[in-house]
Amino acid sequence: TLDISYLVFVPLIWIAARAGFRRTTLAVFVLNLSVLVIVRSWPADADIMALQFNLMTVSFVSLLLASVFTSYRRGRERLRHNAFHDILTNLPNRALLLDKLNSLKQQKRRRYAVLFIDLHRFKAINDTYGHTVGDAFLILVGRRLQSCLRPGDMLARLGGDEFAALLPDIATLEDAVAVAESMTEQLAEPTSVKGYEVVTKASIGVATARTDDPDAGDILQKADTAMREAKALSGASCVVFGSDMEARVSERLTLEQGLKQAIARRELEVDFQKVVSLATGQVTGHEALLRWNKGHSGYVPPATFIPVAEETGLIGELSEWLVRQVLTEGPQEGYVAVNLSVQQLQHRGFAAQIARLLEEGDFPAERLVFEVTESMMMNDLESSIINLRSLADLGARVAMDDFGTGYASLSYLKRLPIHILKIDRSFLSGVPDDPDDVSLVRTILSMAKNLNLSVVAEGVETEAQEAFLREHACEQVQGFLYGRPLPLKSGARQRAKTPSS
Ligand code: C2E
Ligand code: CA
Ligand code: CA
Repeated sequence: TLDISYLVFVPLIWIAARAGFRRTTLAVFVLNLSVLVIVRSWPADADIMALQFNLMTVSFVSLLLASVFTSYRRGRERLRHNAFHDILTNLPNRALLLDKLNSLKQQKRRRYAVLFIDLHRFKAINDTYGHTVGDAFLILVGRRLQSCLRPGDMLARLGGDEFAALLPDIATLEDAVAVAESMTEQLAEPTSVKGYEVVTKASIGVATARTDDPDAGDILQKADTAMREAKALSGASCVVFGSDMEARVSERLTLEQGLKQAIARRELEVDFQKVVSLATGQVTGHEALLRWNKGHSGYVPPATFIPVAEETGLIGELSEWLVRQVLTEGPQEGYVAVNLSVQQLQHRGFAAQIARLLEEGDFPAERLVFEVTESMMMNDLESSIINLRSLADLGARVAMDDFGTGYASLSYLKRLPIHILKIDRSFLSGVPDDPDDVSLVRTILSMAKNLNLSVVAEGVETEAQEAFLREHACEQVQGFLYGRPLPLKSGARQRAKTPSS
């Protein structure tokens, strides 16, 4: 009889194991154990004792099985969760977002939106304060973005400093834009992360679609495109996707891909433009200007490809190539000025990298000048100052390029290790006829003199400009009047025109 009673517990074990009723089975086990203890003190009835003992064994086995199954199921759930969530912020990841986007298409007719959010300067925050602060900052950003959303919305982290929000049900485009605006407001609030005051801004691209629209296609891609547009229009924080953007995007992509191979294909060149002393007419130095020669497609102007190189991070490689070129094949006399980009200026190891490059050859650091602009400096003043000081410590000099177009205040000029001011060529164009330009150039010249800085007037094209500058004791000049940017070795152009690969 006892043996048959076992069978009753088979389905019980099964239910406990499947459902993982860990607590219930634990309770049954304890109950049985206590009954067994009580029964033991009674005058022995072997049958009841044996029954109770069996009951206890059965509930113990159920308990074990339930534990094993529960942890197995939890593990599977965790794996599934991790596959669809970002580990740092615990937000949904790209896969889950795409999944949700797909499922939207099966739903009844309504409008939805995707916001693509990209933080400015996140890399600088990481480089300056370290990854712990960077991570804490990302978590905080996630929380702030989430606070702008409604319960049914989804915020995902796509990787790095990119987030995307899916608003699955909106009435109008304006609603989505309003959410984007509240996000930029939230992010603009200065934050203290692990004791550091961290400021960021975001560019947000907005794209909307309808659930019954078969062409909704890659709405995420569209929002990304709009975000890039917002980033390119510096100052704009939120841009809505428009069909005109696609052409520009594909153009940019082609540029980006071409640029990646430019070094290997030897399509890069450096031109040097003379800088001349007004008093003696002697060449005091040269400015190195990067050129991209695409062979049959001609030259791509630096104003077109440098911003792309900066956005894609290729600028580091390009500039290293340029500095090597200057150090090994640059002009033999006078200084050589190299333009820096904002990434280099804010990159912590930049000065050390230059020091290493200098050690490779015998180019004296004293012959190097690094050109920076005011807006570049202001982006992250502390890192900029650290790098410029280290460069100055190596013996190199620093020039403030395009001076007058940015917003550097005079107090900064005193704080920064600046040796040379370059007056922007837009001011020279109005000299000597435009009274505003004339007074501006005169003011800069006298200020430079008072601060004991060298001055280079850029973009000098006419005798009249030269006469004016001479009259106001400008020290050095640069412009087409003295020479266009040219390769040092004649024939260098020829070589590059036939790509080697
Ligand atoms: P920038 O640093 O202001 O360079 C001077 C620009 O003025 C050069 O344009 C030069 O060709 C042009 N220029 C010189 N004299 C005259 C003149 O008399 N009249 C006129 N109208 N223009 C003159 P370019 O070579 O097209 O370079 C444009 C910008 O691209 C540069 O402006 C600089 O910001 C950037 N760039 C060039 N090479 C590099 C580089 O190696 N690294 C970085 N980060 N930026 C670079
Ligand atoms: Ca320059
Ligand atoms: Ca300039």
